[in-house]
Amino acid sequence: MEYFNVADIYGENVFNDSVMRERLPKKTYQKLKETISEGKELDPETADVVAHEMKEWAIEKGATHYTHWFQPLSGLTAEKHDSFITAPLPTGKVLMSFSGKELIKGEPDASSFPSGGLRATFEARGYTAWDPTSPAFVRQDELGATLCIPTAFCSYTGEALDQKTPLLRSMEAINRESLRLLRLLGNTTSKRVVPSVGAEQEYFIIDRDKYLKRKDLIYTGRTLFGRMPAKGQEMDDHYFGSINERVASFMRDVNLELWKLGVPAKTQHNEVAPCQHELAPIYAQANVAVDNNHLVMETLKRVAHRHNLECLLHEKPFSGVNGSGKHNNWSLVTDDGINLMDPGKEPHDNIRFLLVLCCVLQAVDRHADLLRESAADVGNDHRLGADEAPPAVISVFLGSQLEDILAQLREKGEATHSIGREHMDTGVKTIPDFMKDATDRNRTSPFAFTGNKFEFRMVGSKDSIGEPNVVLNTILAESFSEACDYIEKAKDKDKAIKKLLQKMAKDHERIVFNGNGYSDEWLKEAKKRGLPNITSMVDAIPAITTEKSVALFEKFNVFTRSELMSRAEIEYEQYAKEINIEARAMVNIVAKRIVPCVINAVTEVAGSINEVTAAMPDADISVQKELLSEMSDLLSDTKNSSTRLFELAEEGLSLMHKDAAKAAKFYHDKVTVEMEVLRNAVDSLELLVGKENWPLPSYGDLLFEV
Ligand code: ADP
Ligand code: MG
Repeated sequence: MEYFNVADIYGENVFNDSVMRERLPKKTYQKLKETISEGKELDPETADVVAHEMKEWAIEKGATHYTHWFQPLSGLTAEKHDSFITAPLPTGKVLMSFSGKELIKGEPDASSFPSGGLRATFEARGYTAWDPTSPAFVRQDELGATLCIPTAFCSYTGEALDQKTPLLRSMEAINRESLRLLRLLGNTTSKRVVPSVGAEQEYFIIDRDKYLKRKDLIYTGRTLFGRMPAKGQEMDDHYFGSINERVASFMRDVNLELWKLGVPAKTQHNEVAPCQHELAPIYAQANVAVDNNHLVMETLKRVAHRHNLECLLHEKPFSGVNGSGKHNNWSLVTDDGINLMDPGKEPHDNIRFLLVLCCVLQAVDRHADLLRESAADVGNDHRLGADEAPPAVISVFLGSQLEDILAQLREKGEATHSIGREHMDTGVKTIPDFMKDATDRNRTSPFAFTGNKFEFRMVGSKDSIGEPNVVLNTILAESFSEACDYIEKAKDKDKAIKKLLQKMAKDHERIVFNGNGYSDEWLKEAKKRGLPNITSMVDAIPAITTEKSVALFEKFNVFTRSELMSRAEIEYEQYAKEINIEARAMVNIVAKRIVPCVINAVTEVAGSINEVTAAMPDADISVQKELLSEMSDLLSDTKNSSTRLFELAEEGLSLMHKDAAKAAKFYHDKVTVEMEVLRNAVDSLELLVGKENWPLPSYGDLLFEV
């Protein structure tokens, strides 16, 4: 094995600050920095110089093509490659060129990406626009090396067609309102406030040969059939377990690739379920973190293939086994290094922190529906609201120290003491002493305070973290803005702050919950508190277009009403389409694989009955007969259910052309229910039919033989 020094390779494929400083003329570098840090517009001459140097640098890395790299609402990233070559010269040679215009603006055909009615097919023009705050990078893969330029994607009329544009708008909103709050509290030095985000990514790794034998995994990313094996995750022997060699060598390659791309991959470990793992990079400013997370997902997939493995990013690849999510760690940090979510040593005395805390509680309580929606995707329905982590009810875990402070604020609008940290006592003298954290953790909370950041844990494993961060930034901007309006008007600011803290603590304490979020008691309690429990994507989508939501997003220039309407439309379509594919995949697998194999098995048993009876007329053949009748019954259940499912999917499809919301509801209420019936019949058959007759690799094969 080849060993390497991480510091040598880190960021080697990124057009980062040190490359820019080294390669760009001083004046150009200065101008670009102003654009990056102060949002100033870039003039065409500067863009030309930057583009030229970027190209020269990329070509040294072997790049032949460049692409604007963007995040349309399909949930994936998109790219269209152009080579650097120009028209051949009379000598027959070519030059390599890349202009400022090409760097700044691209023009993919927008009509082939989801637009939710914002665009008709004939209005095809769409633009990608360079986001200079996310660094460009060279990706090296089977295609060769490609210069990737992170961009935002808009329609001809300027509507956002991607995840990034609203994110950048929400970052501007939270920056503006945070600075307002800081100034009110006497801060005169901070110039910029940026959301920091770190996404912990969960995924499954399975053997690719077995993967290729399962059309359900290929078409839908999850197993549509399959019984739990004898052993599941009940022994807790996988979590943090030692990593097997094949997976370890894959992880090593993933890290290497990510480091070259400047993604600071930091933590890796085995997760709870067999074959499940996690990777977390160090946090970065929100838009870079969103890009990084896409790079993490793409790299996991790509490197897995090199190892003849397959990486499953679906939220629930295996029924009965823990699903995968993404923890979105989020805080606000100033350019001079103040983390607004850091409580400091004496949180009760830290007015800035108390205001931020209460504003977060208000924001999350008021817009729980939007946050829940931001984590909705089709696969995540198997986690949220099913018997799995986290629950679909949004609540905030604060821990004992902050809960105590909140109680004090509720009483008098101020807090006079903080529960202190304690020494850790292991009972072993030779283990060095250390201070415990102020509070324990709570793994069941969907929104947990973890020391100096909040962790939103509802996001699905394959979903973009763009949308949750748009919502987080905007709802907090609203709370900050209202707090500022109130304090600015007051004669006695200190008194006003106290009054505000008390009011917010009182009004929003219902969102705080420190107990077991998985318990049934919590669901009852949450209902009493009036907290929404939205168990499916179809029920979550309407939150996008309520008047409350439109007012919020329009006020902070994050979305227009029509952008919100289009997003809701896209989500309904996505739901209907994905379930439709799953239903059709089930019908096909049943027809082409399951039924023929079960018929073989039935024929074998029937044949054996005949043979045994012929040889031994008095033999006891009750077992065979029972098996035969069970199999035959299940076979007919399977066939009938599959026929019904086919018809329902057709009906759903015809609805889809008329009304996406209705279609989505139909797929949810009717199609997924029939899918369950069909699955149950097939899974029962799996137990009756011998392994050599069963057409699909089993859960045991997939989960325990990597
Ligand atoms: P935990 O063990 O609480 O999950 P880690 O320290 O492992 O926390 O961090 C989890 C993720 O949170 C990492 O991506 C990390 O970089 C990120 N993170 C740490 N501090 C912050 C912060 N202040 N703001 C945003 N993300 C953070
Ligand atoms: Mg965490």
